[in-house]
Amino acid sequence: MNIIKNPKNEAARKKFKIIGPIVLGVGIIFFLIAIINFFSCFGTGNFPNLFILAFFGLPLIGVGAVICRLGYMKQITGYVASQTTPVTSDSINYIIDNNKEAIKNVINNKKITCPYCNTLNDEGAKFCDNCGKELNKVCPNCNTLNDPNAKYCDNCGHRF
Ligand SMILES: [Zn+2]
Ligand SMILES: [Zn+2]
Repeated sequence: MNIIKNPKNEAARKKFKIIGPIVLGVGIIFFLIAIINFFSCFGTGNFPNLFILAFFGLPLIGVGAVICRLGYMKQITGYVASQTTPVTSDSINYIIDNNKEAIKNVINNKKITCPYCNTLNDEGAKFCDNCGKELNKVCPNCNTLNDPNAKYCDNCGHRF
């Protein structure tokens, strides 16, 4: 049990790599013999004597698979990591490339909410699309856009 609990042990790993496939192979062979025997006896009235092998074969397949996994774990996870990482970043780049304009629009397209009717208007709009009221006060002194309710300019303090 000590060996199984420590799969990082290289010697144990080498043993697992040999034992795992053997156990797995024997299990599969047992299981196949049982299945073939079962179906060859099917309808003949003979009792499938070898079907008992399935009861040995199935646990052997399970144990063999576990031992294989312990033996090849490092390679499998390493392989999976090296295979999926570039694919993932590639597809993310692809998605970003395709949606760059859309993303840019979402980030840059600041909408102005009309304070009178809450309609969203494009940035730079002077009057509301919906109610026609003035959306921004342009400071006559410094040309800064101010809130329509502003009494003084945000930038220079000019009194409206
Ligand atoms: Zn409005
Ligand atoms: Zn101003």
